[in-house]
Amino acid sequence: MNAVALMKEKNPFLWINPNKLSSDQSLLLQQFDLSDIQNAEARLERFAPLLTRFFPELNSTTGIIDSELIKIKKATFNFSNLYIKCDHSLAVSGSIKARGGFYAVFVIVERILAERGLDVYGIIDKSIGDIHSIFDSGSLVVGSTGNLGLSIGIMGRAFGFKVTVHMSVAAKAWKKEKLRNLGVTVIEYESDYSVACGIARSSANENKGIFFIDDENSHDLFLGYSAAASMLSGQLADKKILVDYEHPLFVYIPCGVGGAPGGITFGLKHIFGDNVHCFFAEPVEAPAMMLGLATGKNSSVTVRDIGLSLDTCADGLAVGTPSEMVAEMMSTILDGCFTVEDNEMLKYLAGLYDRESLRIEPSAAAGFAGPGFIANSKTGKEYLVQHKIDRKNITHIVWTTGGSMEPEEEYNKNYERGLSLLR
Ligand SMILES: *Cc1c(COP(=O)(O)O)cnc(C)c1O
Repeated sequence: MNAVALMKEKNPFLWINPNKLSSDQSLLLQQFDLSDIQNAEARLERFAPLLTRFFPELNSTTGIIDSELIKIKKATFNFSNLYIKCDHSLAVSGSIKARGGFYAVFVIVERILAERGLDVYGIIDKSIGDIHSIFDSGSLVVGSTGNLGLSIGIMGRAFGFKVTVHMSVAAKAWKKEKLRNLGVTVIEYESDYSVACGIARSSANENKGIFFIDDENSHDLFLGYSAAASMLSGQLADKKILVDYEHPLFVYIPCGVGGAPGGITFGLKHIFGDNVHCFFAEPVEAPAMMLGLATGKNSSVTVRDIGLSLDTCADGLAVGTPSEMVAEMMSTILDGCFTVEDNEMLKYLAGLYDRESLRIEPSAAAGFAGPGFIANSKTGKEYLVQHKIDRKNITHIVWTTGGSMEPEEEYNKNYERGLSLLR
């Protein structure tokens, strides 16, 4: 059966990208290059000292926001070289959106400062009240399924911006409440993510100081995410994990519109070239990127066109259409995508707590299906043969993307569901 038919039937499966080029070739085709990633890293470093003033919890990392890379016991998921990149516990906003979202706010902050002949070092010693008075006439607007809104809301309010978040129907009540408590205006829609994003987009007007952070097209979000790659590379080196042709890295990242996994993939390919293999994980009800890439239609197709509903417990991935910008970039660089059923995500979520005491949200669990697809599925085995990879030599990294801010009751509901499925 072809990929679209499998998606229609809501079959979980692994899809290998037939249009992938070698990383050297595909990186040449991309609209960004290494210097863009390096600029992003430098910007994050410039803001680090200021962040420790807004968020004292960042003192221990001198303002750099990164997560641990931890090894998972073989008993947990039956893989010996399985690591988790713990973005579910990223400081300040508790999801991978802390990377791109905060970065996008920093870009706007620097633009406003530049108009006044200032830079970030020029405000580091000012009082918080004085900092707010620079930004409180500006507004940030964003469309979100939840976590991006949280990140922009938290960071935007820290600088004193007014923030408006347009929330899709998938967004959880606690995320809306948390934002309202921060003084963010939350506008709710009965429709899905693309609609919320579209309305948010049309409300922006930079001449009037209303900045739209466009999850579907933002260069800044993408580059903010890309900076994660060198952080991961440093952690691999610290752990003496060798990455080369014979010892490849396989990375599995949950995908919504594609900005977060796309930025990270782009960064990793710059560092590890063809020795890193990147796969995106999506719910069977919302394989937006897989559909866009498999049909070659990118963002001009939605999963609704093939009868899917976006109805998934993975709210962060409940997206029908990928980012055009990211789909275009991924079309020659991404190794593949796979789909996951809600019940599987819930089982991984519960298993991860029982065996490793890690609390993740359903979206963040999607990547755990990856190692099994590579090692055990027909498509995965063929992929390994074709690339002359011995599965024993693979280091698997599952990127967990959110969860640490979830309220107890919310977490417990999913945990109980997962537990009953495991029994
Ligand atoms: C947003 C999000 C993703 C995916 O990021 P995209 O940029 O939308 O692809 C994955 N997991 C969680 C928890 C998220 O909030």
